[in-house]
Amino acid sequence: MKRALARTAFYFTVALLAWGAIAVMRPIRTPSVGDVISGARVAWVERTDSLAKGETITGLLGRTLPDEEVQDALEAAGTLDPRRLRAGMRITLGGAADSAPSQILLHLGVDRLLRLTRGDSGWSGREETIPWQRDTLVVSGTVNANLYEAFADGARELPSKVRDELAWSVADVFEYRLDMSRDLQPGDAFRVLVERERTQTGAVRLGQVLGVDYTTRGSRLRVVRYLDREGRSRYFDENGRSMQAMFLRAPLEFRRVSSVFGMRRHPILGITRRHRGTDYAAASGTPVRAIGDGVVITAGRMSGFGNVVEIRHPNGFVTRYGHLRGFADGTRRGARVSIGSTIGYVGMTGLASGPHLHFEVLVNGQQRDPRTAFNSTTGLPLAEGERGAFDETRRLLLALLDSGSTTVPDGGA
Ligand SMILES: [Zn+2]
Repeated sequence: MKRALARTAFYFTVALLAWGAIAVMRPIRTPSVGDVISGARVAWVERTDSLAKGETITGLLGRTLPDEEVQDALEAAGTLDPRRLRAGMRITLGGAADSAPSQILLHLGVDRLLRLTRGDSGWSGREETIPWQRDTLVVSGTVNANLYEAFADGARELPSKVRDELAWSVADVFEYRLDMSRDLQPGDAFRVLVERERTQTGAVRLGQVLGVDYTTRGSRLRVVRYLDREGRSRYFDENGRSMQAMFLRAPLEFRRVSSVFGMRRHPILGITRRHRGTDYAAASGTPVRAIGDGVVITAGRMSGFGNVVEIRHPNGFVTRYGHLRGFADGTRRGARVSIGSTIGYVGMTGLASGPHLHFEVLVNGQQRDPRTAFNSTTGLPLAEGERGAFDETRRLLLALLDSGSTTVPDGGA
């Protein structure tokens, strides 16, 4: 009740401001030769409100418009699916400052709106698509603590949600080469060439990552996106070697690993034991994926590791995933699993003080450092016939990446 009062008060304030023509003002249209302009130009006023929880659109409009106007306007809206009228939906009322609103915009989604307009013959409605405009952005940064922070500093022109998405996309590009939640070092530097899409209403979303220049531990990796003859888009290093390889570098998707815990020391109690695995702190129930194709050789309980899955892969590799809360359907001894498929869920069974995944890579029964174990299994080179087109794409994208200009008009790539 109190809130409704506050809202009404707010509305009154906005209306008063509008009367004083302090609110957003713009002429209805630019007058042209032949127009009769009588007296002073009338201010166009817009005010945006949002649908409160449990509030009907009739209720919202009824605060500004007479009942019969509301009925006519909503009739013009046609059969508007009530599910599209979510709480929080923005509604913009517009009109001349000295009369009732003659336009209602229902913001159905980031790029959809329903425009209701009152003309001489009453209200009419039209659904419109707001076009996305694309440009290309170069984002650069340096890692101090983790990738999220690096993007927060390096990509200020993007909204924070979009920055996180960009961090995930970059981690995806490198998912066969680098574990972005564990392998990054303070001082690592990057430049990313990425498509950005925007609407005039201020919505922003990411397009494709077109290229990345990443320097870690003194080695520089430049990656470009290439669309092959079959229309498949994939990432290649600058030597034309596929970024896709036999093994993923991490059993959890980067976007699923807590950014807070990503760089922390591992949380397990058993420090007295020699710890040869990698621990990933993540929420209980987070899907765990097989890092390569293989056959399940263990899916059961083991002291210390709790619920554990072991997979035998080609080239003599075995991977082990411990402390699982449970197993995915079909994960049993003898089952074939493919790269990236879910085999179980993060938990804290066995010797674990909190939910995390214990992960090991073994060769001939010996634990190996996953950062180096898979170095011999990098991606295949590009097909010979694709070489010319790839070289051209690479030249263009790396030039854009190096250009230093922050934005490039669409069509540049
Ligand atoms: Zn561990």
